[in-house]
Amino acid sequence: MPDKKTASFMRSLCSGEIEEEILLPYPELRPSERETLEAIFATLKAMLGGRERDFRAWDVAGEFPASFIEELRSAGLFSLVVPEGHGGLGLGSMAYSRVVQELGRYDGSTAVTVGAHSSIGMRGLLLFGTDEQKARWLPRLASGEMIAAFCLTEPGAGSDAAGIRTTAVRDGDDWVLNGEKLWITNGGIAQFFTVFAKTSLEGRGHITAFVVERGTKGVSTGPHEDKMGIRASSTTTVVLEDVRVPARNVLGEVGKGFKVAMKILNAGRTGLGGGSVGAMKRLIELAAGQAKARVQFGKPIATFTSVAQKIGQMTIDCYVAESVVNLVAGIVDRGYEDYAVEAAISKVLSTEALWRTCDEALQIAAGQGYMREMPYERALRDARINRIFEGTNEILRLFIALSTMQDVAEELKDLAASVRGVFADPIKGFGVMSDYAKKRASLATGLRREKARFTMLNPALAEEAALFEEATTELARAADRLLRKHGKGIIGEQLATRRLADIMIDLFGLAAVLARVSTRIDDHGEASAVTDREILRAYARQAKRRVDAAFAGIDENVDATVLGVAKHVLEIGRYGWDSV
Ligand SMILES: Cc1cc2nc3c(=O)[nH]c(=O)nc-3n(C[C@H](O)[C@H](O)[C@H](O)COP(=O)(O)OP(=O)(O)OC[C@H]3O[C@@H](n4cnc5c(N)ncnc54)[C@H](O)[C@@H]3O)c2cc1C
Repeated sequence: MPDKKTASFMRSLCSGEIEEEILLPYPELRPSERETLEAIFATLKAMLGGRERDFRAWDVAGEFPASFIEELRSAGLFSLVVPEGHGGLGLGSMAYSRVVQELGRYDGSTAVTVGAHSSIGMRGLLLFGTDEQKARWLPRLASGEMIAAFCLTEPGAGSDAAGIRTTAVRDGDDWVLNGEKLWITNGGIAQFFTVFAKTSLEGRGHITAFVVERGTKGVSTGPHEDKMGIRASSTTTVVLEDVRVPARNVLGEVGKGFKVAMKILNAGRTGLGGGSVGAMKRLIELAAGQAKARVQFGKPIATFTSVAQKIGQMTIDCYVAESVVNLVAGIVDRGYEDYAVEAAISKVLSTEALWRTCDEALQIAAGQGYMREMPYERALRDARINRIFEGTNEILRLFIALSTMQDVAEELKDLAASVRGVFADPIKGFGVMSDYAKKRASLATGLRREKARFTMLNPALAEEAALFEEATTELARAADRLLRKHGKGIIGEQLATRRLADIMIDLFGLAAVLARVSTRIDDHGEASAVTDREILRAYARQAKRRVDAAFAGIDENVDATVLGVAKHVLEIGRYGWDSV
């Protein structure tokens, strides 16, 4: 069994192993955290409840008034993740994610403003700061005297973050920074910027993370961007012109800033997931109310199964997203260090579930939903950014598939080195193989008899557990097959890796729901989990259908034809089939 703190559920799953102790028992908040959260929720209700007209007006204005930022400050919302010793609330990942969820229930722009400060703006300081650096900045970040922003993106470097061109050149005890950062959340209101710059100009160069304070000469920010959604949240450029930063402002090691950036984004994903789940809960409430109130053909539209089905599906999607986001936050709180793939899955799954939920809620409200006086169109506009920032969902799918396949590739390399020729004569060959190599070869050749099994799940969930176990074996085989077929070229096989990522996203969703329902039955009895089991039953079957289709699509698909059509269009630069 891998070391408990370094194990990753998804990496192991891709090798055909179910590391169930990472899932079980499904994480819960400690009683003391519950009390703190209840107090925060009461504050939020008093402050944000009934402010719908304000949120709508600020969306139209494209900006929060300074007085509202002051209200957030006074309510302590910038102190959530700052340790208690530095004047903060010291919330763990799960409790923090739950607060962002509650904020997302009221307003997307508010959730993003608080989230960008805590999830990514100051996260580098929390993860990599020295004691001196923490003492210098955390108290002011906790009080909200300083609001934080994360500055990575540039005009020429979005997904390809390693391609940034901002430079930092050493001059005596200082670094001198020059460059322009784009679309920085909180840019207009932040005093604390975590800035990434190149500190070596060779090739794509090394990146280093710096803390830059607003007052520093040469730092300026542009006007608020006129955005599609989360319009009241501040998004600006951040320009650095000969900005002198003392060497003691470097976060982490010089030249290791790319790792700093990736760790910040990984750690921040439970915040973004929480915000998405909160927004879904609100939309479900709105849609249920609308479906009961709106009468057509002499009946409330909720009585039509086409409408009711949407509400059921929105709820299932929300339950799955909530299960995954909480599970990942719980994994972080339990001290597991390797949660990058699971965090990426939680981001993709929750943001896409939210997008579908917005669309369906608006469809239920139909014409009314399209009108600006109703909250649906704003929810839809606000939700759209989640699939783009903190890593686009396409890039995250590549990351999910390729980083888990990397482990399999390492294993295959071991296997190839130790047992050359074994596939020509698997039965004889097995005698000379290590236990590990046997397991993988037997998976790959289909000779393996024993499947990966859950042993800790409540037996009442045996049917759905079996479905998961089967898919796990298939996943490991598919990863093997793809690597044998494409070797290093797998990196360019984006459509195959996307299918693998989709399978992993569904399987992690199912694992999270299985763990949640199992723990509920263990702790409170089967009667307490009747509706939870219905949700599990429905999701397991829906996921199985999608997973089966994706497995089948790996070998049989029309990808080449679709790419052929794309090639033609890219050549002529337009749609070429006008019929008239
Ligand atoms: C409102 C808002 C707030 C933001 N806040 C911040 C912030 O606080 N800090 C910060 O640093 N950044 C921030 N960003 C930037 C955001 O993180 C980037 O927009 C995002 O990383 C994507 O980069 P891009 O927009 O340049 O898209 P591009 O990288 O140009 O991508 C364009 C399209 O191509 C796809 N694509 C790109 N490369 C590949 C590939 N190799 N394989 C397959 N598909 C690919 C992408 O998925 C996407 O669909 C914000 C952006 C917005 C709009």
